[in-house]
Amino acid sequence: MSRQGNKKLILIDPDPEFQQLFRQALDSLGIDVLCYASGEKALDDIMHVKPGCVVSEFITEDMDGRAFFQKILYEKEFAPLHPLPVILFSNEHFRQKHGNDLFDSGLRGWYTKPLGAHAIREIILNIFMISGVIQRNKELKQEVRRSEYRYRDLLENATDFIFTLDKNGNFVFLNNRFSHLSGYVKEDWLGQSFQKLIHPGDRIRIGSHYEMIQQGRARVFESRICHNENEQVYVSFSISPIIDKGTIQGAMGIGRDITEQQKMEQEILELKNFNESIIQSMEAGLLTIDLDGKITSLNTVGEKITGWHEKEITGRFFDTILLPEKMEFSSMTTRFSRLPPYSRETTLTSKSGKRISIGYTVTDRIDNAGKKVGTIISFRDMTELKQMQTELFRMDRLASLGVLASGIAHEIKNPLAGIKTMAQACEEEIDNGDPRREYLVRIGKQVNRLDELLKTFFAYARPKPPDRKLCPLSSILSEVFPLLNKRMTKQQIRYTQKISETLPKVLVDAQQMQQVFLNLIMNAIDAMDKGGEITIDANFISHSRIEPARSEDTRYMEVIVKDTGSGIAEEFIDTIFDPFFTTKSSGLGLGLSIVYRIIEEHHGRIWVESEIGKGTAFFIELPTGANQE
Ligand code: ADP
Repeated sequence: MSRQGNKKLILIDPDPEFQQLFRQALDSLGIDVLCYASGEKALDDIMHVKPGCVVSEFITEDMDGRAFFQKILYEKEFAPLHPLPVILFSNEHFRQKHGNDLFDSGLRGWYTKPLGAHAIREIILNIFMISGVIQRNKELKQEVRRSEYRYRDLLENATDFIFTLDKNGNFVFLNNRFSHLSGYVKEDWLGQSFQKLIHPGDRIRIGSHYEMIQQGRARVFESRICHNENEQVYVSFSISPIIDKGTIQGAMGIGRDITEQQKMEQEILELKNFNESIIQSMEAGLLTIDLDGKITSLNTVGEKITGWHEKEITGRFFDTILLPEKMEFSSMTTRFSRLPPYSRETTLTSKSGKRISIGYTVTDRIDNAGKKVGTIISFRDMTELKQMQTELFRMDRLASLGVLASGIAHEIKNPLAGIKTMAQACEEEIDNGDPRREYLVRIGKQVNRLDELLKTFFAYARPKPPDRKLCPLSSILSEVFPLLNKRMTKQQIRYTQKISETLPKVLVDAQQMQQVFLNLIMNAIDAMDKGGEITIDANFISHSRIEPARSEDTRYMEVIVKDTGSGIAEEFIDTIFDPFFTTKSSGLGLGLSIVYRIIEEHHGRIWVESEIGKGTAFFIELPTGANQE
């Protein structure tokens, strides 16, 4: 028996013998047979008994089998029993008459009497088995319907937009999400093309994706879609072809609304660009390092100051590449130190190897979780400022020294004149042959030397304002060369002058400039005891290399006086222009300070580059007066 739960059967037959036969026939099957002679009575009990099958004689005490079957079939109260298998027994006459009709309505069987026990058992067994199968089918169908409903519900109300397309790319199915996303009624879009849904601005790009899907390849892409109220909606699509028996039948896809995400990405991008533009437009250099001390970024101004490009320098160790001096570098790379921002001064080495003075501020770089992830160093190039400070300081010193020197010189000059006059008077009174005259000659010589010295003092202390005239540089140098030629030959010094004839004239006091070159070349000779080379080079430059124009003159002649001598120690570079600074035993230390002063008076500039053991180069910028011609 396939139906385990319901083994009850109602038999309606007024014939007690048949009832007896029926019971016996089914005895071994374990079926509980309830016998009735009246159809009405059976109907009274049937809802209570809930039989698995009803067998009825066509003629009962009160109603015929047809009426009974129709009541079961059509009366509401018996509906819960459906589908209750009913079979009728009768003679052939009744079956002929009503059979077709009742079978059409679902009568399960109609058998003619007389029936033996074996036949009864077979019939009932079949009925119960078929009922089992029917019941099982019914349950299966219900199960299928339920799961289909579940699946449809899932699909229809999914948070993603789910759709299928036919092979022409037209919508076959769209879930409810479509209407939320696009603002359109989804039924209006059945049969419309997928391409039409894509925002016109993205159609060309998406067209190529769609072609690939039609060639059987799955694609993932992002696109804007059309919206009923023209809202901007971004969707991330994932579409796969539907392939059946090797041919592409269409495609199915999922679309996810990424509008918010896009907006956020856009905002983040805008914020990033905004920050970037602030960083790049800052007047200060900005450098960031991580906790290992490696450089992570450098802005444009920082690139300008250090000479390094951000790309070249990122990932390299800050302290070994820029060689900061006296910087508390270790605290910058300590994870736990939380320094209050502080400002200091230091020097860095640029890409070209030049030391640059910088003023810098250091701040911890903190991430979103409040953890220190690196350090931000903002810095400014102080080289120019430092130079200006040094220069101001020097000019100040020169001026006060000048006043002092001229005062002393003046005081010495008068007694010196007295000594000289007295010596001359004595000389006149002493005979020519007297050996004491020699003393007086010596006194005179020493006085003359002192006098020379005083002249130098005066040249420095009370410079004459330059009498500037346009004159060629070569003619100035041609006056100087003969004075030094002898010494140079003696010390085996080669002299080269690279001055083009076509160079413009310079607007200078020729005599003072002769003094400048004389002093510079003499110093060069002093620096080359063992021979060497002096080169004088001149070029026309349209702008000062050092600083913006100081006067109305904007065009310059750059003259370089270079030697291959001993060079100047780094610690002296800043002091060589100071008066009385000398490293020579018989030096006065005034030569370069006079040079400096003269160049200053000419609105020019002078600076020096030197390397111990290799040589020295003095650079002079002189206004050409070219814009006055
Ligand atoms: P002096 O020549 O009397 O020493 P200067 O003012 O001319 O005074 O020079 C100052 C110092 O600068 C020199 O003593 C020397 O040490 C240094 N100096 C100047 N020119 C050169 C040079 N071309 N090479 C090396 N050292 C130089």
